[in-house]
Amino acid sequence: MSTTKFLMVGAGLSGAVIGRHLAEAGHDVTVVDARSHVGGNCHTERDAETGVMVHVYGPHIFHTDDSEVWDYVNSYTTFLPYKNRVKTTSKGVSGEREVYSLPVNLHTINQFFRRTMRPDEAHEFITTEQADTSIADPQTFEDQAMRFVGRDLYEAFFKGYTMKQWGCHPSELPASILKRLPVRFNYDDNYFFHKYQGMPENGYTEMVAAILDHPRISVKLETVFDRSQAAEYDHVFYSGALDGWFGYELGRLGYRTLDFERFTYQGDYQGCAVMNYGEVEVPYTRITEHKHFAPWESHEGSVCYREFSRKCTPDDIPYYPIRQVREKALLSDYVALAEKTQGVTFVGRLGTYRYLDMDVTIREALDTARAFAADLSEGRAPRAFYQAPL
Ligand SMILES: Cc1cc2nc3c(=O)[nH]c(=O)nc-3n(C[C@H](O)[C@H](O)[C@H](O)COP(=O)(O)OP(=O)(O)OC[C@H]3O[C@@H](n4cnc5c(N)ncnc54)[C@H](O)[C@@H]3O)c2cc1C
Repeated sequence: MSTTKFLMVGAGLSGAVIGRHLAEAGHDVTVVDARSHVGGNCHTERDAETGVMVHVYGPHIFHTDDSEVWDYVNSYTTFLPYKNRVKTTSKGVSGEREVYSLPVNLHTINQFFRRTMRPDEAHEFITTEQADTSIADPQTFEDQAMRFVGRDLYEAFFKGYTMKQWGCHPSELPASILKRLPVRFNYDDNYFFHKYQGMPENGYTEMVAAILDHPRISVKLETVFDRSQAAEYDHVFYSGALDGWFGYELGRLGYRTLDFERFTYQGDYQGCAVMNYGEVEVPYTRITEHKHFAPWESHEGSVCYREFSRKCTPDDIPYYPIRQVREKALLSDYVALAEKTQGVTFVGRLGTYRYLDMDVTIREALDTARAFAADLSEGRAPRAFYQAPL
């Protein structure tokens, strides 16, 4: 098979990384995106009023243990150190609203219970006096949280936020969402455990533009793909919505979407990048203050986003795949359809209907490009999926 003309639908990380790999292998690559910019959901741009670099589709922090991926992103842009330290408001045992540190750590526990426990004392206190050990086999998010941390911490730090984020009661969500004890018995408030963490000095869009900057790649923005365009290419890599490729003929895969309410402030609005709101009566989940994502910059003005989560309608941007029982059944029907379709490989967060962090997206894109190139050179037909959606 002498395939040489490839189309990438989507100029996000998936399309850019696969496209770059194939362009370097000597193929011609066209990248189309419906939006007016590259970068997909990682897109960043300077706010015209304040000059602050804004994460337009929600805050993105790069964190990984994958040294090849870390070297890859650093070969296209400069990353500066950034540690995500999240705060939350919630009602303490007194019923008063206070600001706490997340993830729930020894500081949070001591502040919440008005104690001065050391790590082993706190561990003993949570596991013997707080955790509901009568729950032997937790099936739901609520059961799991109650078994791990008990009612007080669950209600203060998990319940309200989860209800707002997912639009349902935690007793309707699977236990698998809370895989391990979501509490630290030390004062480590770094949100992520990963070895490499940082933020691109000039934003993610510049990084993705650098990945796409290759003589064999042409980028067409504000170009909506439809399937009739596929005939012009030898193969399509599609990072749009899997159900969208099929015109939603079996129904729509469910997503949560986000609304961002922008406001500006003179000075420092909240003193940190991310403030969660644990109380269910506050309608938004969090406020992000974007200048704190670039602590090496200095700005008088500040731009913040109040973030609201709700069910995604056909006119909204799909953010978080729901992946409950109903969606997984529908997903499996779409996967079966896709497996019978030739000339396209479904990639990325929308193409495989999974939540993927950026480092995982890049890892999968590199693996996909390599496996696809091997299939080509050994005369095998390209696959619909190189990463299984189910
Ligand atoms: C709110 C939020 C916060 C996140 N925060 C983090 C974080 O802190 N750290 C982290 O590592 N990851 C984070 N992520 C994950 C990150 O956004 C993804 O890993 C990444 O965006 C996946 O890239 P992608 O190329 O697969 O998809 P996308 O970025 O969605 O790119 C797909 C592109 O395809 C285009 N497209 C779709 N259909 C068509 C069509 N028919 N025609 C033309 N163009 C089309 C879209 O316009 C889009 O630009 C976050 C995700 C969300 C939702």
